Amino acid sequence: MIDVKTFMLVMAIGNIAFAMMIAGYARGGEENPAMRVWMWAKLVQGLANGLGWLRPDLNSWIVDAAANTALIGGFALETGAYSTFLGAQRWKRVVVPLALICVLLMHSARFGGVGAGGLIAMMSTFMAVFSARMAWLLLAPRADKTLLQRLVGLNNLLFTLVMAMRAYTGAVHSSIGVFTPGVLSTVTFLVGYTLLIVNGFGFLLMCKQQDDRKMRALATTDSLTGLVNRRAFFERTENARMLSARLRKPVALMMLDIDHFKRLNDRFGHATGDEALCLFARTALATLREHDIMGRLGGEEFALVMPGTTLSGALHAAERLRNEVSEAPLLTDGNNYKLTVSIGVVMIDPNEHINAALARADAALYAAKSAGRNRVECGDAISASADVA
Ligand code: GH3
Ligand code: MG
Ligand code: MG
Repeated sequence: MIDVKTFMLVMAIGNIAFAMMIAGYARGGEENPAMRVWMWAKLVQGLANGLGWLRPDLNSWIVDAAANTALIGGFALETGAYSTFLGAQRWKRVVVPLALICVLLMHSARFGGVGAGGLIAMMSTFMAVFSARMAWLLLAPRADKTLLQRLVGLNNLLFTLVMAMRAYTGAVHSSIGVFTPGVLSTVTFLVGYTLLIVNGFGFLLMCKQQDDRKMRALATTDSLTGLVNRRAFFERTENARMLSARLRKPVALMMLDIDHFKRLNDRFGHATGDEALCLFARTALATLREHDIMGRLGGEEFALVMPGTTLSGALHAAERLRNEVSEAPLLTDGNNYKLTVSIGVVMIDPNEHINAALARADAALYAAKSAGRNRVECGDAISASADVA
């Protein structure tokens, strides 16, 4: 059997250590509300455990009441941290009143003379409710849930079940106390310890995972249009080329350049120019398939890779895109400006360097511009002397 009193001290130190770690992690990075709530949750839980450790020595009802209040507060805050992390911003509306009701019930029961077993049943039920909510938040089906989030959710579910068992035992055996040794007490505190470790490291890792995702998105996305940026475009195109070469599938490539964009900028201003770039990106994305890669190479120049598409399919897609762009309404100051795009299309040779294929597509684009703009031109096939990888 474990020594519950020593265990309380270990939990207090663990919770406060986690609070300090997350405070340190948050300090160097961006403001993260979920981390702030979680830090307070761990501090309050650490306080509850510290008071729990002092209970047998001080033997005061004030310490008992404060420990239980802090425990409820700590679990409520932790529920809030997971809610905030997962974007359920309105958690305070439910969790705060629920925590207040729990505190009120707990104090009423204490003054009403409810025995130790009854109080354990009550507190265990409260803990079960909060951890069940956390388990639901982390386990509820959602496409962007990570394995890590599910593991932390499972751990909360386990804790919920143990708390339910403890609530039942407390209700049945009225003489049982917090420090009464026994198998259930050992299981409870061991699962509680697992919860501390898994939720502690789990939350830190979840925050890191979320930050990494944001950084990756920032590093690969063009901030104005939301399209893939130049660097990511080359990376993805190279992957698509290698995959298609392996599968012996064709890959089409287009270079796209908005016509007379300088004139649009000069006439309506840079902001309208930016709006036109976004409109172009939105219009193009709406006509593409899931595996197509559309990137902004710079300024008003874009490139599009279509894996698994033949030349005739690509020419057809380019024509449709050109048409959609010319029909998309650009909101300028009352004037109905017609945005048009010129497109050069080529097929990437399986052994060709991407830069060489882009140069051929660029030549086709130049031909489209020379022939009067707002048109699609097909580029030359790769020549025997071309630059091959
Ligand atoms: P063409 O039909 O031959 O392509 O003519 P053009 O005017 O589109 O070609 P050019 O390459 O000479 O002009 C591109 C202009 O795009 C010049 C630059 O001021 C503008 N530009 C580049 N990046 C941005 C941007 O991020 N926002 C806005 N608003 N304009 C940009
Ligand atoms: Mg242009
Ligand atoms: Mg240009």
